[in-house]
Amino acid sequence: MKYISTRGQVEPVGFEDAVLMGLADDGGLLIPETIPDVSDRLSDWRGLGYADLAIAVMGEFVDDIPAEEFAGIVRRTYADAFPADVAPLVQVGDAWVLELWHGPTLAFKDVALQLLGNLFEAALARRGGRLNVLGATSGDTGSAAIYGCRGRSGIEVFMMHPAEGVSEIQRRQMTTVLDENIHNIAVRGTFDDCQRIMKTIAADVEFKRRHAIGAVNSVNWARVLAQIVYYVWAALRLGERTGSAQVQFAVPTGNFGDILAGWYAMKMGVPIDRLILATNENDILCRFFQTGEYSLGEVHKTLSPSMDIQVASNFERYLYYRLGEDPRKLSQTMADFGRTGKLAVPTGEDGTVDGDFRAGRGDTEATLATIGRVWREQEYLLDPHSAVGVHVGLACRDAGKPLVCLATAHPAKFPDAIRTATSEDLAHHPKIDHLHELPTRCAVLDSDVQAVREFVEETLG
Ligand SMILES: *Cc1c(COP(=O)(O)O)cnc(C)c1O
Repeated sequence: MKYISTRGQVEPVGFEDAVLMGLADDGGLLIPETIPDVSDRLSDWRGLGYADLAIAVMGEFVDDIPAEEFAGIVRRTYADAFPADVAPLVQVGDAWVLELWHGPTLAFKDVALQLLGNLFEAALARRGGRLNVLGATSGDTGSAAIYGCRGRSGIEVFMMHPAEGVSEIQRRQMTTVLDENIHNIAVRGTFDDCQRIMKTIAADVEFKRRHAIGAVNSVNWARVLAQIVYYVWAALRLGERTGSAQVQFAVPTGNFGDILAGWYAMKMGVPIDRLILATNENDILCRFFQTGEYSLGEVHKTLSPSMDIQVASNFERYLYYRLGEDPRKLSQTMADFGRTGKLAVPTGEDGTVDGDFRAGRGDTEATLATIGRVWREQEYLLDPHSAVGVHVGLACRDAGKPLVCLATAHPAKFPDAIRTATSEDLAHHPKIDHLHELPTRCAVLDSDVQAVREFVEETLG
């Protein structure tokens, strides 16, 4: 499988090069040249365990790593980092919750970033050289990337987070990792500032080459790919357990990486009826799927900080397909968006933007009410991100088909919200309870590309 850029200015590359490149050198995003149809494989895949299913699903997109080696990397990833199940399905009321937070940092991003760390290490071992990972995080990506790469030889990680935009626990999950190859940077700005700095540096091809800069953000294709697996997993499991031919997924959404994986699964022929996109007050994507217009607003701070973004970095991948797989049109649209902060796609005659999606938003009130109600009625504790998904999922579901709500973080990461919602101190996990005792390390920089560039250069010597 070759990978091409949404902006069309990069020669097609193999999977491993795509993973090492992160953001495409022309500023676009890398996507597979074709989307494989796996519908006639699904019955063979039904009995597979998670790791074997991951090898089969991802194997459709990887042909430049020896098959045995790739299988070893995947098996090692899911055995080491997920001592229990990777993605258990739990029935909660008349919906299903897919718990994706059983990895080391208690958020779904571990599923992809543990794999990415192993892929980087294997590629460097085979090819030689080193990799300097530059990332921007609104919370959970940072710690998951840091845990995916900590202590690995040949890899340095520079992780920016907004100085005021992550929770105390999220900050500590990152800054308590003292491995010498991990460099946390608190940027005096918002997550979008961090992301802009990262994109600017990543678009500087000369700097990027000189310092072997790679990306772990959700723009990295391996992240999307690893996430496709659990949609296939849940659809197969639920098909068995409920006898339903099709399932629907509700996905708490920020950067559009997670739900995009679900969309790829759908296009691969996995029996998914609809994808329900759930946002908090930062609802640019919700408004897009309701009206066809994608227009920037202000960033609001909410109880679900990992969804507090306006520009969704993975949206460009979706838009590429939506605009007829035309890189010129896409580039023009993105350039216009950069200038005006707005873009629009034509809607169907009935006003539908895309029949594959429904969209809704869950504000602070709805988030707290959902956490409280699900706890009282089902004795199941949702974190605030997952609660947004459940709230919108229940509102937008087709009642005739099973609904899977993606649980993207463990509630112990957000104890204040849980206390507000339930009036009880219920959210604990040993990994989180220890954090406040540990020493931390972090640099603080202005929201300025040059400051970050210099920090990277100085650190690398
Ligand atoms: C990152 C994150 C999300 C949003 O996922 P995207 O891929 O950015 O849409 C939702 N919930 C949690 C807990 C997250 O960490």
